[in-house]
Amino acid sequence: MHPFQYQRADSADQAVAAVAKTPGATFIAGGTSHVDLMKEDVHHPSLLVDVSALPLKQIAAFEGGVRIGAGVSNTAAAYHPDIQAKYAAVSEALLAGASVQIRNMASMAGNPLQRTRCPYFRDPAQACNKREPGSGCAAIGGYNHVHALFGASAACVATHPSDLAVALAALDARVQTLGPRGPRTIAFPELHRLPGNTPHLDTVLEHGELITAIDLPAFAGRSHYLKVRERASYAYALVSCAVALEMDGPTIRRARVALGGVAHKPWRVGPAEALLAGQLPTEQLFQAAAKAAFADAQPLEHNAYKIPMGRNLLVRALLETSGLQPLQGPAGTAFAASVGGVAGQLATPR
Ligand SMILES: Cc1cc2nc3c(=O)[nH]c(=O)nc-3n(C[C@H](O)[C@H](O)[C@H](O)COP(=O)(O)OP(=O)(O)OC[C@H]3O[C@@H](n4cnc5c(N)ncnc54)[C@H](O)[C@@H]3O)c2cc1C
Repeated sequence: MHPFQYQRADSADQAVAAVAKTPGATFIAGGTSHVDLMKEDVHHPSLLVDVSALPLKQIAAFEGGVRIGAGVSNTAAAYHPDIQAKYAAVSEALLAGASVQIRNMASMAGNPLQRTRCPYFRDPAQACNKREPGSGCAAIGGYNHVHALFGASAACVATHPSDLAVALAALDARVQTLGPRGPRTIAFPELHRLPGNTPHLDTVLEHGELITAIDLPAFAGRSHYLKVRERASYAYALVSCAVALEMDGPTIRRARVALGGVAHKPWRVGPAEALLAGQLPTEQLFQAAAKAAFADAQPLEHNAYKIPMGRNLLVRALLETSGLQPLQGPAGTAFAASVGGVAGQLATPR
């Protein structure tokens, strides 16, 4: 490991000032992602500014919705009664991620800011434009089964790994920050970037910009998160989806759909949302929406299986969210991808 300085911040202002003035400095919260990257020789910060003791640990009602402090643990958010009752997709996404021990340490800001699980990014012996700009992308000609279907570039085909981020994108969450130039609000779907020619930049945050809270706006519908992964626990999404439906009597008034495991950022699918709005929920409609959601997918050599898997997962999420089909299993259920198992069925074209 490379030598680095460590500093514990007493206030948000102090944390922002410390990182902003120091090249190579970064925040650390639970450390469950960042410390791994340091041990793996991927990140070499000059200074770690620890924000875990800042008073950013409240979950409170805010403008008809809920404000979640950046330092709230993933566990505390997942089991908060208001989040479970009104924003089920957030709770389900959190419980579908990592392990109990990691969720106890992981923070609400750190989770969506974790970096890709692309194995080439995490192996300093491999070319990776995200880790080392200009070095190339070993994933493009390599074993790219966990990589992107949408929004990739000639420089990077990595996907974003956070489950929580997918639910926050579907629910139009807002990110509150404090930066060197003061506070600002970022719509969650705008937080992460597509790779383009600068895949080393994951988000629109500036150097030294601290997330202070995540706001979930008022929402009177039902939401749901489903994820398919290679093991029944402790594994990242191959494909996931978050669905938020607001009803007007029996009609879908508004639908929001975000996909995970398929792009460099949570992938909102406007065409599917437009198709669902104003319609009566039926399995046929959901199949059409799922088809529309993946119509522009651009598979790589090894990841075309994600298209039928994602379509089938989305149909199931819509059926369960609309009540046409009962929820299968507890919140955050995931399925082992054994041949003939549920993921096997999900990977079969319908
Ligand atoms: C074995 C394992 C399995 C996992 N499985 C899953 C999974 O299935 N699904 C999933 O979604 N996640 C998974 N995770 C990832 C886990 O959820 C993240 O490591 C965790 O949420 C990161 O939170 P943290 O507070 O520890 O972040 P840290 O590691 O402290 O920081 C992560 C990043 O966020 C930045 N940061 C932290 N706080 C702030 C802030 N307030 N403002 C600005 N920047 C900030 C840091 O600078 C750093 O870049 C897994 C992790 C491990 C180790």
